[in-house]
Amino acid sequence: LLHLSGLYKSFGTNEILRGIDLEVHAGETVAIIGPSGTGKSTLLRCVNWLEKPSAGEVMLDGVRLRAEMTGKEEQQAIRALRSRVGMVFQQYNLWPHFSVLRNVTEGQVRVLGTDPGEAKAKAREFLARVRMEDFEDRYPSQLSGGQQQRVAIARTLAMGPRLVLFDEVTSALDPELVGEVLETMKQLADDGLTMLVVTHEMGFARRVADRVVFMNGGHIAEQGPAEVVFENPVHDRTRAFFDHVR
Ligand code: ATP
Ligand code: MG
Repeated sequence: LLHLSGLYKSFGTNEILRGIDLEVHAGETVAIIGPSGTGKSTLLRCVNWLEKPSAGEVMLDGVRLRAEMTGKEEQQAIRALRSRVGMVFQQYNLWPHFSVLRNVTEGQVRVLGTDPGEAKAKAREFLARVRMEDFEDRYPSQLSGGQQQRVAIARTLAMGPRLVLFDEVTSALDPELVGEVLETMKQLADDGLTMLVVTHEMGFARRVADRVVFMNGGHIAEQGPAEVVFENPVHDRTRAFFDHVR
């Protein structure tokens, strides 16, 4: 479904991504792990062109964006790409003055042009999937962080993405709220959603991800099924990272 090839990204003279090749198949959950500052967030942001790579290309579901593209051609491809990719961040950024239900319908109506009645029905379906169906009239400030993050996930899903990117979505949460969000994500993975997940939750990577990608110094140092990468890391750097996080 997603195919990244030869992705490079520099900020000034600082080269952050140094040739990333990665494939994510439909229905797969891929976890990206690795030390702080290694370019994990930058990689996710390049996937939906929030950051424009310095070189390389992103292919998703027939849409192709190349670093060489500019102007109208690029803008058109960006729109096509973003209509297929959803992103959930650490900061969930719900609209504070909108109810939960409106938070999940607004984008559908404004961006997709969905009929309001249909948008509501869809919102309720996705709120149920994150087990927030009983909270549709509440405002974000009346919810816990974990509940807000689940609403943010429902809002993203309601836009009908083929691929959802998650960047450390539990790291701003109180420890007791992390589990409910990870449980929601596990459910989505089991339901066949295609997910690319940057996480420092090793338990999640191990239990839920079909594949684990270890990034280090702007490269993919190692990747494979979770049990292989965790039990038998090939590289010393991966081993050292695990010793450190365990
Ligand atoms: P963490 O685990 O701490 O979230 P990360 O792997 O997600 O780290 P990135 O956020 O991708 O790392 O950052 C990689 C490097 O790129 C860092 O050194 C960071 O300072 C730099 N960087 C990221 N965004 C920018 C930017 N917009 N301008 C300049 N430098 C940036
Ligand atoms: Mg990051």
